[in-house]
Amino acid sequence: METITFKTELGNSYLYSPARKVVIPIPLYVHEDLLSGNLNNNNFLSILKKGGYLDNFNSDYSGRISEKNIETSIRDVSQVVFEMTTACNLQCEYCCYSDGYTIFQKRQNGRLEFSTAKVVLDYLARIFKSKIQTGLCSEPFAISFYGGEPLMNFPIIKEIVEYAELLNFEGKEIVFTMTTNAVLIDKYADFLSKHKFRILVSLDGNKKHDSYRKTVSGKNSFDIVYKNLKFVQKYYPALFSKIRFNAVYTDKSEAVDILNFFMTEFGKFPQFSQLHKPDLSAKEFNKIKSMYKEIEIPYELSMHKDLILESPIHKRIFEFCMKLSRHTYHNEGELSNNDISILNYPTGTCVPFSKRIFVTFDGNLFPCEKINRDIPWGYVDSSGKMIINASDIVERFNSMLDKYERICSTCYLQQCCIKCAFQSTDFNCDNKKSKEQFRKMLSQIYSYIEKHPDIVNLLEENVVIK
Ligand code: SF4
Ligand code: SF4
Repeated sequence: METITFKTELGNSYLYSPARKVVIPIPLYVHEDLLSGNLNNNNFLSILKKGGYLDNFNSDYSGRISEKNIETSIRDVSQVVFEMTTACNLQCEYCCYSDGYTIFQKRQNGRLEFSTAKVVLDYLARIFKSKIQTGLCSEPFAISFYGGEPLMNFPIIKEIVEYAELLNFEGKEIVFTMTTNAVLIDKYADFLSKHKFRILVSLDGNKKHDSYRKTVSGKNSFDIVYKNLKFVQKYYPALFSKIRFNAVYTDKSEAVDILNFFMTEFGKFPQFSQLHKPDLSAKEFNKIKSMYKEIEIPYELSMHKDLILESPIHKRIFEFCMKLSRHTYHNEGELSNNDISILNYPTGTCVPFSKRIFVTFDGNLFPCEKINRDIPWGYVDSSGKMIINASDIVERFNSMLDKYERICSTCYLQQCCIKCAFQSTDFNCDNKKSKEQFRKMLSQIYSYIEKHPDIVNLLEENVVIK
């Protein structure tokens, strides 16, 4: 990677040195000399050269993970997510299990058994015991419920919660979390409130914004969900205070109207999520593509502390600064795995299980729910044993890194890559950036920062990495 100079919309010029991992302001004549390749007779450039700012950056992709990294990840894991069922009581038109996508398996009517969850919880309780207690502040351990619609398998959720509360997780605080469409939340509010659940409700806004979220009979689900949420708001205020909203952004969305709706009705801002881009080969590619719309939040609203990371440009600035600094860790696991975090390896993929363990309804284990599920990374076997073969995982992961090395080493995003290699099925990357594309991206980021200089401080003060 070569040094890049770029100009902002206000006409200021900067230099990005991949070798030194910094962006510095430079006088316009230096920018022009650099662009024209005139590197002589320029004192400023001589100083930059001496300091190594003009050196090319040669990717050192010597980093590979080891079995120890997998063991450390599991020992420090801060979340286990149970796929309670693959069934759902809604049939949203943009669902990632619909015909718009090929990466996720089609829904089967599977339900998690308590016996499977028990094996996982017992295993983790045992593993946590072997952890040397450092006395450092420890994150709570989250037991999370995911679906399909998890509340359709409520009896097993109840068993898991009651069992987990009796287990000894070595003094770790346990929190229960759930992602739900809220169709059944009124029915189980008592239990959820008693066990202090933190809940993420999927709701896209008012009836118009929410109209892709359909019941199985094809009707709009908004009225049911709205009524249930009003019920919880009125009769279970403690539970309601732990509810957050996720609004999928589609061609029906208008950020201002959606934010007004949530604030007026529930006194909260939602988080936004972008519709997954459909797979080209999917049957309903065109249908999903027509629903796709980039998230756009007006500047004044985007500076609100609860919305600061909802704006795509803020997210990009944040990721760029965070990745470039390489001194930011998402959790204890990443920190204790820092021998590999500081070693370079291609792609932005996390060490398997360093963020969470995802358990499918049929007892297969994955590093998270967002990646393709062709081959499990571990499983609960028929005799009730947890099988995680660290050496197989290491081999699979490192061979993926080998395959990406060539493509990543010529990509200008390589020092701030957030692409997970296991979210696609081929060893290709549509995020790859050429020097010119990266120059444009830097110019866009720094033009924004110059116009809104508060953003860096605001990000620093208000973003909590979880
Ligand atoms: S998407 Fe990839 S990088 Fe992100 S948590 Fe899942 S496995 Fe890790
Ligand atoms: S964006 Fe793609 S090509 Fe570039 S470093 Fe990341 S994974 Fe590699």
